[in-house]
Amino acid sequence: MPELPEVELVKRELTPVINRKITGVELSSYIYKGHREGKKTIIKEPIDSFIQTVTGKTILHLGRRGKYLYFILSDDFKTTHIISHLGMSGAYFIVNDLDDIKEDNFKKHRQVILSLDNGQKLIYSDIRRFGEMHTYDSLQDFPPFKRMAPEYTDHLSREHFIRSLHSKKFSEKMIKAAIMDSEVIPGVGNIYASESLYLSHILPTKKVKNISDKRLSNLFDKICEVFELSLSRGGSTISDYRSVTGGKGEMQHSFKVYQQKQCPLGHDLKTKVINTRNTFYCTTCQR
Ligand SMILES: [Zn+2]
Repeated sequence: MPELPEVELVKRELTPVINRKITGVELSSYIYKGHREGKKTIIKEPIDSFIQTVTGKTILHLGRRGKYLYFILSDDFKTTHIISHLGMSGAYFIVNDLDDIKEDNFKKHRQVILSLDNGQKLIYSDIRRFGEMHTYDSLQDFPPFKRMAPEYTDHLSREHFIRSLHSKKFSEKMIKAAIMDSEVIPGVGNIYASESLYLSHILPTKKVKNISDKRLSNLFDKICEVFELSLSRGGSTISDYRSVTGGKGEMQHSFKVYQQKQCPLGHDLKTKVINTRNTFYCTTCQR
């Protein structure tokens, strides 16, 4: 699943669509079928209203909040937003023609095709269809954004991180589950949780209330470090993440513990399911 660095990289690679007008919307048969069955597949509102909301609007700007990407759209009358989550396997492509998507799986599972006024298409593909698209006139009205902690780059983020971990809601939780909650810090998923906990020598199973503020502050630093390292390496490509140009990141070659057998010091790693996801850690290096 793409985490903060991968979504940020997608956002950066989508800048060519800024100032392009959306002239048409085409949705996959999977989406229509899902909606007929009441599942709201990918488009989390009535299909007609989604199409009507975005058609004819110009993409003014792109943003990211946590693991969500958003497009700011406007016409002469109204400003609105598409808020997009890539789910497990979502990917965007900017192409002249569908055949420009080189991998058959992504071509086959194209879900949303936005035609642009320069003749190009902005295509959202999603093999497993866990992705989401919402439209909201105001970003503040989107429920996950109301509760979300400041971005890691915000000067208030460290203070918020430690304060929220002290709260009743998180103090009894395992630290790994707590840092994967966007109310504590946005954008940490399974990979960067394992990596940052290893780098800060904290066991993922440790209860938050048993970790000193000094160690929590160090963990915050390590989360920022793994985000920055991953951004510089083009993100992690495990299974289905692709950049807008269809490229793959290199961060997976820098993993210290995630999907590894041994830590960098040669100790055998343990794995455990926390928050429904496999966690990798070293009982010698982490305590
Ligand atoms: Zn170790």
